[in-house]
Amino acid sequence: MDIVNVGKAYGSLTVIHGVSVEIPDGEFVVLVGPSGCGKSTLLRMVAGLEPITFGDIRIDGQVVNDLPPKDRDIAMVFQSYALYPHKTVAENMGFALKMRGEPKADIDDRVKKAAEILDLVPYLARYPRQLSGGQRQRVAMGRAIVRDPKVFLFDEPLSNLDAKLRVQMRAEIKELQRRLATTMIYVTHDQVEAMTMADRIVVLRDGRVEQIGSPLELYDKPANTFVAGFIGSPS
Ligand code: ADP
Ligand code: MG
Repeated sequence: MDIVNVGKAYGSLTVIHGVSVEIPDGEFVVLVGPSGCGKSTLLRMVAGLEPITFGDIRIDGQVVNDLPPKDRDIAMVFQSYALYPHKTVAENMGFALKMRGEPKADIDDRVKKAAEILDLVPYLARYPRQLSGGQRQRVAMGRAIVRDPKVFLFDEPLSNLDAKLRVQMRAEIKELQRRLATTMIYVTHDQVEAMTMADRIVVLRDGRVEQIGSPLELYDKPANTFVAGFIGSPS
């Protein structure tokens, strides 16, 4: 999928100033930058949750700017606290499919497959409050997986987990990407997360791209002192 010169203004305030990122299929791209630099806004425009002011979002070469979120081949993973507390794990995972009117047998089948991938089979009848933090986050991922999207979007999914669990979940998300071989766009303000997870990193600052490159490229050849400082390399 491609982000082509995409911009966003809220009234007279422009917060994204023409960002372009070409993302080959199957790549794990991390959008990183300080709080308020526009990461969530950019991701929400890709998802279709926020109208774009200018530019294009393309999936498989097709401009999807005017498609509602459900018609884009994209699923967003939210933080685990966005689970429905009064629905079981299985119901949480199948809810989007149920809303689309898919047959129950198909939903059950896809929920079961996603649960197998995520090691959640024993927990399907439980409620979110009966799960650990890591299991809840896996349910949040399961809701996206059942839709079998072309692109997964994550907006700081691990920020409410403790440090140890965060490290474990990073590895689980990377493993998931390897298994599914899908494109993932992952937003974080955590440099370590970006450096350890990304195939390529997009460094944003005040709604502009400072640099795009592999973790090694950013570390070895930061484009400027902002990138160097943010990534934490000497220079
Ligand atoms: P990040 O996710 O990188 O922390 P955001 O995308 O949330 O940043 O915000 C980028 C900028 O856009 C910030 O300056 C923020 O205040 C502004 N912004 C976000 N949403 C709105 C909105 N609905 N109305 C006005 N300004 C907004
Ligand atoms: Mg944000």
